[in-house]
Amino acid sequence: MENNRKNGGISVDREHIFPIIKKWLYSEKDIFLREIVSNATDAITKLRRLESLGVREPSDECYRITVTVDSEAGTLTVEDNGIGMTEEELTKYICNIALSGAVEFIEKYENESDSKNGIIGHFGLGFYSAFMVSDKVEVITKSYTGADAVRWICNENGEYEMEPTHKMQHGTAVIMHIAEEEKEYLSVSKIRAMLEKYCAFMPEDIYLVDASAEVKEGEEEKAAEPVNEKLPLWQKSPSECTDEEYSDFYRKVFSDYREPLFHIHINADYPLNFKGILYFPKLANEYETIEGQVKLYYNQVYVADNIKEVIPEYLLMLKGVLDCPELPLNVSRSYLQTNTYVSKVSAHIVKKVADKLTSLCNNEREEYAKIWKDISPFIKYACMRDKKFYDRTKKALLLTLTNGESKSFEEYLEAAKEKHENTVYYATDKALQAQYISMFEAEEIEIALFEHPIDTQFATMLEQYMENVKFVRVDSDVADVIKGEGEAVENEAIKTVFADVLNDKVTLKFDNLKDESIPAILNVSEQSRRMEDMMRMYSMGDVSGMSESTFILNTASPMYAKLCETAEADPEKAKQTASYLYKLSLLSQKKFSAEEMQEFMKDSFDILMKL
Ligand code: ADP
Repeated sequence: MENNRKNGGISVDREHIFPIIKKWLYSEKDIFLREIVSNATDAITKLRRLESLGVREPSDECYRITVTVDSEAGTLTVEDNGIGMTEEELTKYICNIALSGAVEFIEKYENESDSKNGIIGHFGLGFYSAFMVSDKVEVITKSYTGADAVRWICNENGEYEMEPTHKMQHGTAVIMHIAEEEKEYLSVSKIRAMLEKYCAFMPEDIYLVDASAEVKEGEEEKAAEPVNEKLPLWQKSPSECTDEEYSDFYRKVFSDYREPLFHIHINADYPLNFKGILYFPKLANEYETIEGQVKLYYNQVYVADNIKEVIPEYLLMLKGVLDCPELPLNVSRSYLQTNTYVSKVSAHIVKKVADKLTSLCNNEREEYAKIWKDISPFIKYACMRDKKFYDRTKKALLLTLTNGESKSFEEYLEAAKEKHENTVYYATDKALQAQYISMFEAEEIEIALFEHPIDTQFATMLEQYMENVKFVRVDSDVADVIKGEGEAVENEAIKTVFADVLNDKVTLKFDNLKDESIPAILNVSEQSRRMEDMMRMYSMGDVSGMSESTFILNTASPMYAKLCETAEADPEKAKQTASYLYKLSLLSQKKFSAEEMQEFMKDSFDILMKL
């Protein structure tokens, strides 16, 4: 055997590449395990292919990958029973890699920080990532052809020895002699976590073995469980998957025990060729972080999370998995940004999400209406960010009404045709605006409930997109439908009384309202209120009270008739009533400040004294 021993050095720029491998991949060192395990799955896949091509007799062998942590020996071993390598192949594939291209690449992109994870996979150097954590890497391999087994051992400077050895079964063992400063890779829990992250869905069974653990009775079963799922749900055809499977998959992958609101299974064929499942998560409350998690895979090998180039930023609250086999395993951000495949994938995802919403709205309206409250802020935000998304989802946008029902915009506008064509009435606070709401509801006018801060901004956007449609808050305009018959007559004595009560931002108006029980209301113009809201949102100083408002006296109310009499007989008393009436109208329009509340209470007590 001694005679057959060969010594050599990894060719091409060995001195150059080894320190670079160690240094350059520092930030994502854990990736080495993915590279070595995916080489092992490839080796098995190749053997399966030879069998299916008839080059090799089909066998009933159990193909598997075993990852063994031996903390005593200081080694981490990845062993497969795949195709294996002959001495010639080992020399060709492992010892002589065309590094010159990689060196050139490194020199060129040395300053581009996000490209560093791209080098190793890009140039078929995956195997060498083992040197990031090892001071020696040993390969023991036997080709399926039955050729002699070979043992190869290489130090961190790229100097290797190669010799024939004995190995019973075909396949390859990569034994990483973990470097002193990388001892954490001898921890079983660390390796398990890495396998669960990077290899959870690789296509061959992967077993984790702790060489130092004594197998206790009854524990064999547990040890025999592979750490991965060979056929992840996204690879199945949607028609073969049950709701329960989708829920289980979600719970397992995202450790979220709440049911997601709905899911989308994407199965895009040629020319896009990518698969995935996206879930709309249920959020506990609106303050919960909305960051979702979309895991990107390449042929079942984990690549990264939340790649903004693949999934638009406004859909990043989604959770899910995407498998894009057309993407190189390691890719740099700059590559993704300019890649047309990536932008097509992204556009396809947007289309699928919009289609799903539309189909839920059309076919499962009751269910859809239930989840609308949860999803609507996100959908509205997405519409505001992307006109194309809006165009695709506009038929699935709902209005939640103050009566608890919900309607699509189309349905609302259709119903509004006769009484208030192209006007959407809305309320932002059901309690505060109850008086206005009841006036509209009495006339069977539907009112949309805009309780989320995004709603009014969304309405402003819709006014731009939907020609002629206006959004009007219930307290900003006296709609014709709530007015009674005939014109209201102005009263000069009343005008004098109110001249002292109302400040110059408030205009006095006489109107004849159908609801006689309401003596007066206060309206704030839609435009000036929106301006005020916007200034408040951008914290542009104190804006309270800058809106123009109109104090409307209902000439049809008995209280108004009484006030007219008092204005003639006792103007001072009328002024007190007027002031109190104005405060009441304010109270039904906004929340009082502490001072205003105190004053209002004092007035109320005075009135009670007079009873
Ligand atoms: P890549 O996998 O991108 O080609 P690697 O550096 O990871 O680059 O591997 C180089 C080559 O070495 C592989 O293409 C394969 O031919 C061979 N190889 C690596 N690992 C194994 C293995 N476990 N079994 C058989 N061949 C392997």
